[in-house]
Amino acid sequence: MITLLQNFRKKIILLFLLLFCIYPFIYAQTISSTELLNNATDYDNKVITYEGEVIGDILKRGNYSWINIDDNNFTIGVWVETSLIKDITFTGNYKTEGDQIEVRGIFHKNCSQHGGDLDIHANEIRIIKKGRIRDFPLQIGKIKFIVILIIILFSQIMILVIKNFLKARLKKQ
Ligand SMILES: [Zn+2]
Repeated sequence: MITLLQNFRKKIILLFLLLFCIYPFIYAQTISSTELLNNATDYDNKVITYEGEVIGDILKRGNYSWINIDDNNFTIGVWVETSLIKDITFTGNYKTEGDQIEVRGIFHKNCSQHGGDLDIHANEIRIIKKGRIRDFPLQIGKIKFIVILIIILFSQIMILVIKNFLKARLKKQ
């Protein structure tokens, strides 16, 4: 009976240890830009996780860099050690789709280090999805125009061929 109880206690302790270990992952939920901006005072100086597409240029400032992360609603400036962003390949613009990344760091409603701007000082960066060069949609208008031109040209040639053929036949007669 005692050994049974001891086993049970061990199992409970193990369960608690396991919960303790996975706790940070359960609560590492990403927060949207809308949520951050609407509740900026609540999130001020707190560790948050934010996710979005890297857009625009990366601005290097010594050992640190500014990257812009857009989650389809707003763009938030992220201040990060340059060494942490070495794996970022694509930044979004009209030609490319930027890498999708997750940043974990401290949110500042009015950053004292950066002139009172709203920003995130990231200390962890994780690339979720690599960006790519955008596919340009086929310019249907141009293609239609070319097809019509070819049809007109082809019918003109056909008319000429038929005319010449008929002329030749008339001459023979
Ligand atoms: Zn800052």
